[in-house]
Amino acid sequence: MGNIKKIINGKEYSEKFLKQVYTLSTNFYKRFNRKPCLAVILVGDNTASGIYVKNKVHTAEKNGIKSVKVILSNKVSEASLLNEILKLNEDQNVDGILVQLPLPVHISEKNIIHSINPMKDVDGFHPINFGKLFMGNPNFIPCTPLGCYYMLKNELKELSGKNAVIIGRSNIVGKPMASLLLASNCSVTITHSKTKNLREHCKKADILISAVGIPEMVDETYVKNNAIILDVGINRLQFVNSETKANETKLVGDVNFGKVVNIAKKITPVPGGVGPMTIACLMHNTVKAAYKNKKQSFNDILGEIF
Ligand code: NAD
Repeated sequence: MGNIKKIINGKEYSEKFLKQVYTLSTNFYKRFNRKPCLAVILVGDNTASGIYVKNKVHTAEKNGIKSVKVILSNKVSEASLLNEILKLNEDQNVDGILVQLPLPVHISEKNIIHSINPMKDVDGFHPINFGKLFMGNPNFIPCTPLGCYYMLKNELKELSGKNAVIIGRSNIVGKPMASLLLASNCSVTITHSKTKNLREHCKKADILISAVGIPEMVDETYVKNNAIILDVGINRLQFVNSETKANETKLVGDVNFGKVVNIAKKITPVPGGVGPMTIACLMHNTVKAAYKNKKQSFNDILGEIF
């Protein structure tokens, strides 16, 4: 494709980024004679969650980070899960704690997220970390928006004054993304399922970030010429293979890549865009948590955001 510079290659970004993470984790090992440690809790047998956890553990191990997996049954009580988190909170050798979401319906995600020690909350979902981000004094920043921010900063250098439109207002993507862009002096619009005239909002975007979960919803009618598009959505689409006639599935984003690629200035693909940087940022947050656990200053790869 003649669009090499147009494609924001998240895989390439993550590989470079993780090299720096590896240096930090090996330096940590040299100083403290142990690796930074990430505890990952998986509840139940959701296939997608299982794959996410496997990828996280694998990436941690490849990058000088120890991982501890806690696997609990679908039927585990909220009290038992809280007790597991308490043990990890108190364990000096555990630096980061991640509870893979979603949780079974009988467990309150809110109670679980609130129970994680904010200094080990490498997902950045605890209200203290969420509030700190919004107040311009971030501690741990949620990994997906952090990865998006990192790629945007590297692609654009200057974000100041840009119109940024985010589709989706979740606590894990839309809202923290808005906060990061606001801190970078963008004019930010957050749109959602009840937004009227969504296309008109999106058409004004210099930077368009979609985190909805509807396959290929964003087509050329949403996009301004030369916009920068980050597609956070991960959707599994069923299709019939025209040769074999078999039913198959593929991953697509919220953005109809084929329809917007010639209008956009730059765009992330799915897969290979936002996903790899999300996991790289989790590793970054874990190493940062380890240095903080040891009360050591941390030379942040991301530089000063605020
Ligand atoms: P969510 O379900 O919590 O939020 C979806 C948001 O989309 C909501 O705020 C809703 O108001 C909005 N929305 C729904 N329908 C809409 C419509 N028709 N028009 C405009 N807005 C609409 O989802 P989430 O957790 O924020 O995730 C969003 C997507 O991003 C999902 O596909 C998810 O799998 C993906 N995701 C990817 C990564 C990654 O690493 N790449 C990380 C997190 C989430």
